[in-house]
Amino acid sequence: MEQKALWIVGAEAVDPEKGLRFPADLYVGEGKILGIFSGGLRSAASEIGPEAERLDGQGLILSPGLVDAHVHLRDPGQTHQETIETGTRAAIAGGVTSLLCMANTTPVLDNPSVLRQVIERARREGSCRTYPVAAVTERLEGRRLAPLELLAEAGAVAFSDDGKAVGDLVLMKEALQRAKALGKRIISHCEDSTQPARSRSAEWKMVERDLDLALQTGGLLHLAHLSLRESVRLVRQAKREGAPVSAEVCPHHLVLTQEDEGRYGTLAKMYPPLRSPEDREALREALSDGTVDVIASDHAPHAAQEKISSFLDAPNGIIGLETLFSLSFSALVESNVLSLPELLGKLSFHPARIFGLPAGRLEVGGPADLVLWNLRVRRKVEKFFSKSSNSPFLGWELPGAVDTVGVGGRIVFRGGRFLGH
Ligand SMILES: [Zn+2]
Repeated sequence: MEQKALWIVGAEAVDPEKGLRFPADLYVGEGKILGIFSGGLRSAASEIGPEAERLDGQGLILSPGLVDAHVHLRDPGQTHQETIETGTRAAIAGGVTSLLCMANTTPVLDNPSVLRQVIERARREGSCRTYPVAAVTERLEGRRLAPLELLAEAGAVAFSDDGKAVGDLVLMKEALQRAKALGKRIISHCEDSTQPARSRSAEWKMVERDLDLALQTGGLLHLAHLSLRESVRLVRQAKREGAPVSAEVCPHHLVLTQEDEGRYGTLAKMYPPLRSPEDREALREALSDGTVDVIASDHAPHAAQEKISSFLDAPNGIIGLETLFSLSFSALVESNVLSLPELLGKLSFHPARIFGLPAGRLEVGGPADLVLWNLRVRRKVEKFFSKSSNSPFLGWELPGAVDTVGVGGRIVFRGGRFLGH
């Protein structure tokens, strides 16, 4: 179908790369941003001919679509929890136009043919751009490395055994070296199984080991879902020493603390667990001083009956795509830790830069993956597009709503609804 050109007029644009916000009209065509006009040139947009569609952005914020670096789509294998179709729709509803999906599916994304199938299916069934992360080790067993070179060739954007750490130091070192030669990053789930389960040392000891390995090898390391002040302190130090490391936190660790386990039960069970108010403060600080680069959801769907069990037996994780922006906005912008452009940097420009994705920038010639945000409203979290609803934030009133989402210049979501093609 022929796609009409599009003018988005009257919005306030945010450029998360330059950290700017400014009134602008955008001209979009052929799936790309073709023009960004601010100031005096805006009048040109008022004479839009019939060849272009006009989208009114008055009172709205216009930004690049978010890039979520940590999503479990559960497909193939656990499709009662989520599918490529439902997970990517949840993404769009949350303003996420690109996501990285993790390898712990059934089968595991540890061979090129499974990986290619996911890429192919995401193209057909998915609503947003989907970039699979392949396994570091075969079947995530931590015994033998997966064929990293073939996986990269098949389209893996990074490697991770997320859900587990790569416990074997020699394997992790070789993985960092081989991934580096491919220009790819290893995403580490830092959990040392020789330490007491869910303890502080289980996280920071693995952070320490991986940072050492990154310094030794020059390998590109991304530390997923950090939750402790010790962890961010170690990252800050390693970055000073020149380690090629990037770090991520999740909104739930910025909003909740371990006390919330009493209130939300198994809906507050995740790995790493919720921590103390001092840790939460340290994470916010680490975002503000640049120690932490990325905010990602760690979207982890589980069916209702799976979370109805004792805290000990319940699976880890909560869904997060649809609350990623609002929770982060409330924890960071409303409490003056980050400016709005800085926040959008952590949610789009930086993850795109770190994983080498064509996203997260507001630039002429770049893909027109765009979101219009309404930041004047508060929205009650009531229902999800995700197939699962394991979220402690149900019933919360959160700031900001997704008004409109475009992917490749095509408006796919508007006013809470998906548009047909
Ligand atoms: Zn993890």
